[in-house]
Amino acid sequence: MHHVISIEQLSKTYASGHPALKTIDLQIRRGEIFALLGPNGAGKTTLISIICGIVNPGAGRVLVDGHDIVRDYRAARSKIGLVPQELYNEGFESVWATVRFSRGLFGKKPNDAYLEKILRDLSLWDKRDARILDLSGGMKRRVMIAKALSHEPSILFLDEPTAGVDVELRRDMWEMVRGLRESGVTIILTTHYIEEAEEMADRIGVIRQGEIILVEDKDVLMHKLGKKQLTLILQQPLAALPAGLETFQLELSADGTQLVYTFDAQHEHTGIADLLKCLGEHGIDFKDLQSSQSSLEEIFVNLVKGSRT
Ligand code: ATP
Repeated sequence: MHHVISIEQLSKTYASGHPALKTIDLQIRRGEIFALLGPNGAGKTTLISIICGIVNPGAGRVLVDGHDIVRDYRAARSKIGLVPQELYNEGFESVWATVRFSRGLFGKKPNDAYLEKILRDLSLWDKRDARILDLSGGMKRRVMIAKALSHEPSILFLDEPTAGVDVELRRDMWEMVRGLRESGVTIILTTHYIEEAEEMADRIGVIRQGEIILVEDKDVLMHKLGKKQLTLILQQPLAALPAGLETFQLELSADGTQLVYTFDAQHEHTGIADLLKCLGEHGIDFKDLQSSQSSLEEIFVNLVKGSRT
C-alpha cells in the first residue's frame, strides 16, 4: 500500500460549535517525513489527535495502514507513536520502568534489547534509573520520545517537537528522525519553524483555519522559493521593452522607470551578466538596482494571511 495514512473528507466541530477541521483530504506516503505547517489554532493538534484516537472524529474516514481509526481502533493505534506537545510523565517512576510500561500498554512482549537501543540513541541510557521528576526539561522530552517509540511504531507523530528545546537536543532529535526514516518509519511533524520543515521534510502541508490549503513536495516549493527578482531603476524611462530583450523574463513597470528581471537563483546560470550586457548594447543605463528573494516563510505567511476575513 502506497499510503500509510489516508484521510478522507474529515471534519471536526467541537462541542463549543467551533469548526476546527473542515473536510480534510490528505494522504501520507509510506516512509516520508511530512511537515504540517500552520498558525496557532489552525487545527494541527486536532488533526493529529483524531488520527491517534484521542479526539473523536466528526464526519469522514481515516485509515492507518488500512485500519479504520474508529472501527479498528486498537490495530490502528498500535502502528502509531505520538510525541505530544505537552510534557506529561509519571514523575516518580524511573526512566526504564516508564518506557517498559509504555511498551506493555500496547500488549507487546518485553524486549529489553530494543528499549536499551532507544535509550542509548536518545542519550538516556545513563539516566535509566533516574526518576523522571529529577530530569531536566530536555531529558523529559527525550523520555516522551522513548515512550512513543517503545512499541516499535511504524508511524511517528511529533507535535512541535523542538518548541523550546536547546540546539543540542534539536540536532539529536533530527538525527534520530533521519535514522528512523531510514529504518522505514513514516514521520509526521508539526512545526512553527519553517527552516525546520525546509531542512527535514520530504513534503510540506499547510493548514489554515481547519483547511489544508497546500500540499507540495519540498523540492518543488524550494524551487518556487529559489525565484529571485532583480529590479533595475533606469536613468531614462522606456515607453516599451526594446526588441531583442524578449529572451529575458523582463517586466517593465507601468511608468517605464523600472525593469524587473525574474530568475532562478538556484540555477547555475542566472543570466544576469547576459542581461546587463544586452542592456548596455541597447544603450539602456540604470542608476540603481535591488534584488529580492521570496522565502518559504513569505510564501507561507502570504498563504496563511490569504483570505483571512
Ligand atoms: P497550535 O499551533 O496553537 O498548537 P493547532 O493548529 O494545533 O494550534 P488546535 O489545537 O488543533 O490548533 O485547535 C484548533 C481550534 O480548535 C482552535 O480554535 C482551538 O481553540 C479549538 N479547540 C481545540 N481543542 C478544543 C476543545 N477541546 N474544545 C473546543 N475547541 C477546541
